Amino acid sequence: MLDIKKEDKENILNTYKRFDLVIKEGKGATFFDESGKKYIDFSSGIGTNSFGACDDEWTSAIEKQIHLVQHTSNLFYTEPQVRLAILLCEKTGMKKVFFANSGAEANECAIKAARKYSYDKYGSDRYEIITLVNSFHGRTIATLSATGQDVFHNYFYPFVDGFKYAIANDIDNLSNLINNKTCAIMIETIQGEGGVNALNEEYIKYIDKICKEKDLVFIVDEVQTGNGRTGYLYSYMEYGVSPDIVTTAKGLAGGLPFGAILFSNKLENTLSYGDHGTTFGGNPVCASAAYSILTRLNDDLFNHVKECRKIIEERLKNEKNVISISGKGLMVGIELKEGIKAIDVANQSIKNGVIPLTAKTKIRLLPPLNITFDELNLGLDLLIKSINEVAK
Ligand SMILES: *Cc1c(COP(=O)(O)O)cnc(C)c1O
Repeated sequence: MLDIKKEDKENILNTYKRFDLVIKEGKGATFFDESGKKYIDFSSGIGTNSFGACDDEWTSAIEKQIHLVQHTSNLFYTEPQVRLAILLCEKTGMKKVFFANSGAEANECAIKAARKYSYDKYGSDRYEIITLVNSFHGRTIATLSATGQDVFHNYFYPFVDGFKYAIANDIDNLSNLINNKTCAIMIETIQGEGGVNALNEEYIKYIDKICKEKDLVFIVDEVQTGNGRTGYLYSYMEYGVSPDIVTTAKGLAGGLPFGAILFSNKLENTLSYGDHGTTFGGNPVCASAAYSILTRLNDDLFNHVKECRKIIEERLKNEKNVISISGKGLMVGIELKEGIKAIDVANQSIKNGVIPLTAKTKIRLLPPLNITFDELNLGLDLLIKSINEVAK
């Protein structure tokens, strides 16, 4: 029999510190390993499997398209892209869409568009993009440059020039960084990889206002927060702000590699013939998958996400080894009592049959959006048990 763990280490670059688990299959928020042992999934493939593993409607949307044509390139028109673009624009009020394959690529496109918008209107000296300390925007050289964490700024010099990092929730600090070179401000409303830290409303509204006043491009990276994750279609919608560019990926196609960049009418003509492109972006199978997800991101689902949040908070708030709970909706950060390591809790949880994630020093939960209350409660039982075992 294939020794998967051993052969993985020998044949695949060791860039991931994988958990000690081979996932074989799943349904909804339940995974099984090779021995048939069951796990409650609180990770959704890092927030990608919006409706869990192998959701029926999603599976049949993919199947249908895969028997029509799997790929055409962007040299031709295809129906799945157009149907999805119409729906994205309708649901967000944004004007145009570009399709990519991942979050990093979506942000790469946003960075290019913001700079070109400013170049077209103000010339070549206005190119700086302000992002936040502790942000995460991807692993390409440009998106690493946009990422405001020093740990990501090693080895791969030179990084891309023209990024400045503002301290989250500090309006004075941000306004001091804005000058006549600034072209854009880019934020996650909740810093996911950075530790599930939500920005406050006043700060988000200030960014919206200052971008409008100074004609800066307001970019919201919704790669992790988007597609219902926080109990809203896109997390910025909670605040009544209107970004110029919204990037989305992770949960968009329910677990297939896909991304989209949404442009307001301010930028609808910024990128034109030849300015940007991709071979796979907008792939019809992925676009069909995304359509089957997006049509079901409705108030019923958002209410379910908010109900799940209540259960999680209710069950964790009096736990003696839990200090605080952060994030929104089904994007949950759990701060543990001093001395309890998140990675130890994650390993113990997996032994006990629940799969969480970590973010910095916190446990992070990104369960499927349609997780059942039974699955949620069982997963929480196992998680709480694991935290307490590690604390001993
Ligand atoms: C995951 C993530 C990215 C990068 O997405 P990839 O698909 O891994 O390239 C970018 N921004 C945020 C906020 C993310 O959470």
